[in-house]
Amino acid sequence: MQRKSNLAENILTTPKELWERTSEVLKETINPRSYQTWFAPIQPLDLTDSTIILGVPNKFFQEWIDNHYTKILKNALIQTSGYSLSVQFKVLDNKPFSAYTDNIINDIEIKHTPASDRDFSSSNLNSNYTFDNFIIGDGNKFAQAAAWAVSESPGNTNYNPLIIYGGTGLGKTHLIQAIGNNVLRRSNNLKVYYTSSESFTSHFITSIQQNNVIEFSNFYRSCDLLMIDDIQFFSNKGKTQEEFFHTFNALHQNKKQIVLTSDRPVNELSFLEERLISRFKWGLVADIQPPDLETRIAILQSKCEENNLQIPNDIIDYLAVNLTHNIRELEGALTRLMAQVLLTHTEPTLELAQKVVTEIGQPISKGITIDQIIQLTSKAFDVPQESFMKKSRTKDIAFARQVAMYLSKELSKFSTTTIGLHFGGRDHSTVIYAHKVIEGQIKIDAILRNKIEEIKRMLQYSR
Ligand code: ADP
Ligand code: MG
Repeated sequence: MQRKSNLAENILTTPKELWERTSEVLKETINPRSYQTWFAPIQPLDLTDSTIILGVPNKFFQEWIDNHYTKILKNALIQTSGYSLSVQFKVLDNKPFSAYTDNIINDIEIKHTPASDRDFSSSNLNSNYTFDNFIIGDGNKFAQAAAWAVSESPGNTNYNPLIIYGGTGLGKTHLIQAIGNNVLRRSNNLKVYYTSSESFTSHFITSIQQNNVIEFSNFYRSCDLLMIDDIQFFSNKGKTQEEFFHTFNALHQNKKQIVLTSDRPVNELSFLEERLISRFKWGLVADIQPPDLETRIAILQSKCEENNLQIPNDIIDYLAVNLTHNIRELEGALTRLMAQVLLTHTEPTLELAQKVVTEIGQPISKGITIDQIIQLTSKAFDVPQESFMKKSRTKDIAFARQVAMYLSKELSKFSTTTIGLHFGGRDHSTVIYAHKVIEGQIKIDAILRNKIEEIKRMLQYSR
């Protein structure tokens, strides 16, 4: 009871006022989308004893907040009331859950608003793409280091132009926009502009049609940092390339920074004029390779953190092991997984993750033969192919054989009986056992995981 009078005296506030102040703190703590989804619908109901009672739209909200925001909410309340209040929820109305699902899916959707193309008053940058949330791994560390150097000293490094190339969904756009964002963060009076080669082309064409090519040229040539994404889509029309050539020269001469991306090496951009390609060679070309397993796990973990998602490690591992193509695909899997979880009010399970992976449909399993698997596994483990069929029980051979059986069960369309036959007529139960052993081992042995990952990758390329 002492508490109660303390509260009454010291907080001296209505539940509404307290909640308003707390909301301000929450807004500063979590991202706006999450705030909007989870906290905006809350209504403060009562403040009794050492408890604040909050009205939530339904039970699901209560659980989600309990699971994801308890600490944040408690801390915010301590800040605004001075007390460690307990929180009680009360379900307010029975609006159907579907009334909130759009918001919820938007909140967990890890998406970025596409940069608008025609807005000359802004830099066209998406502030979500930063160096802070770019996970570094072996495949991208060189490109990241070059990008960082350029962003710290645009126009004053030897990396002009900086050209980043790599396959789709590997982080090229993220990285060059991070350059732009960092340059602006350091000095926001620099003129920074991001565009795609297609937009550049279409601006140019419009400017011809509207008779304002001079304005067009002046604009691009006044940039301190010009980023052009996806130069593989540059028009092969001579005039656009000529205009770009002059822009390039003007910027380069004035020590202004140019950053470009491409989905293939520069000398494979055969439609580009020779003089442009030779200019590109003045600077630095850095490639991005697909992320290895560890990096994929780190990326998933960081996306979860960014979006306040709690996903068990084995599910993260499962997604990372099975989605190897690119990072966009990994993000897509997380989004789908969470949407399913929210809509079905269940915890994320491995089964659900499997479903999502199948939906995303990395078509690795189609057409892979057991012979291909045996061939690659024998190489990877340095064990002769014939020994997979023989009775040999040496430890190394037996283990490699188990790995090949595991991969066959995972990746080929064949039944365990058929798989057994390919391994010197072994029983299907041996295949099932091998699968189980390796499955368990992968979880604890990172080296093995990487090795298997590598075999999977090679199987994809050999198709
Ligand atoms: P690209 O331009 O090469 O096709 P993007 O830059 O659009 O690829 O990347 C695809 C998605 O993956 C983006 O949402 C991006 O934020 C994310 N992403 C790519 N690389 C990384 C990384 N190293 N760390 C964190 N997120 C990444
Ligand atoms: Mg891109």
